[in-house]
Amino acid sequence: MSQKRKELKKCMKRLDALQKELAKQKTCRKLKFYMDQLRELQREVDRRQPCRTGFPVSESLMLPHPIKLCEYTICFSQLDNCGRELLEDALNARCFAYAPYSNFKVGAAFRSKDGKVFTGCNVENAALTPGCCAERTAMLKGISEGCRAFSAGAVVAYHPAGFTTPCGVCRQFMNEFAKLDVPIYIAQAPESSAPVPMFEDDAEVLVTSVYHLLPHAFTV
Ligand SMILES: [Zn+2]
Repeated sequence: MSQKRKELKKCMKRLDALQKELAKQKTCRKLKFYMDQLRELQREVDRRQPCRTGFPVSESLMLPHPIKLCEYTICFSQLDNCGRELLEDALNARCFAYAPYSNFKVGAAFRSKDGKVFTGCNVENAALTPGCCAERTAMLKGISEGCRAFSAGAVVAYHPAGFTTPCGVCRQFMNEFAKLDVPIYIAQAPESSAPVPMFEDDAEVLVTSVYHLLPHAFTV
């Protein structure tokens, strides 16, 4: 992109020189029209620069940028089977959450590359730090059974403010065992305390990815 911008500037210079040349011969009306259009285009390109002192991060070759990925929300009923199943498994796992201190229950489910689903819930502890998040509980179950790569994940919790996304530690942990374009489905658990919890058809689901959750992950 920065290369293209340089090329555009070079072209502009050449055209300026050509215009001056043609002006002497009084045949430049059409060229002037194109020049004005080009100048307008260049102004637009300059205007869109987010930072005048540098280049957008997306142009760097030093960083991973799967920019083809998009993050979106969708109704539960319109979600693909993979997402729906994982969210339901995460919702069921949430029932087993051990959260006597925060009362904040979280469920997670991760699908391994060979299709096996591992579920987990948060497990708190009186001494706080020995506790474990639902996401890591689920992944650890898979890893301890030989799984080294996950192809999708889901996280479910209830917070009145909206979606509960994984904590920073879990994001880094996920990054270790899932590729950047692995989808992560996030939904708000239904408030009801029904014995078999279920999502409403119009429940909103956030479809994000490992990359979106941790774009500048630590790697060695
Ligand atoms: Zn966590």
